[in-house]
Amino acid sequence: MRKISTMKNRTLKSVTGGRVAVVTGGLVAAIALGSTAAMAAAPAQHDATSASSVVQAVQKQAASQKAAAAKKAADAKAVAEAKKANEAKKAAEAKARVNGWVTPTTHYVLGAGYAQAGPHWIHKHSGQDFVVPSGSTVRAAHTGTVVTAGWGGAYGNNIVIKHGSHLYTQYGHLSKIEVHLGEKVATGEEIGKSGSTGNSTGPHLHFEVRTTPYYGSSVEPLHFLKTHGVNP
Ligand SMILES: [Zn+2]
Repeated sequence: MRKISTMKNRTLKSVTGGRVAVVTGGLVAAIALGSTAAMAAAPAQHDATSASSVVQAVQKQAASQKAAAAKKAADAKAVAEAKKANEAKKAAEAKARVNGWVTPTTHYVLGAGYAQAGPHWIHKHSGQDFVVPSGSTVRAAHTGTVVTAGWGGAYGNNIVIKHGSHLYTQYGHLSKIEVHLGEKVATGEEIGKSGSTGNSTGPHLHFEVRTTPYYGSSVEPLHFLKTHGVNP
């Protein structure tokens, strides 16, 4: 907006003693009112046949310059806003890549929680159960590489995905494993179907977040997901 007011100041128009002086961005025209000839005009106005036509031409040019300045300012503002919006979008995308986590399944009811004591576990529950019917889609909670895909004793058919040097997720009691060892998976990609294999009292997905591929290194998975933008 500063640009427009600057332009406005440059387009000075004053009426003094019957004379109109129009100064507009280097174009200077002084016309004696009532006269039939332009006293001074820019080259563009050489063929002007009357003062009023010169005044009109000058006013028209001033108006078009003002409009051009306004458009330029508006364009600059639009470009700045688009740039800002693009930067915000990029930041959000970068954050999503880092924090790109999803729940390991959908349409579930939360079952046994982490560290819960129960008759089915020798030690406290090492993961979070997502209660779903058998055959439900189980998906990678985050992008990574499959480091375990097979029978896991009490866990039945299970998958472990490595996401980082000290970050793994595990998916247990599956009825079907759809990935193989070493396979790279994307966040949300289907890796198998839920079931009730191994030491399980009914269909559900047992989900763990671990610091190693092995049992005994689990962390509280719901808290972990929440701190990574997922609210199970
Ligand atoms: Zn469980």
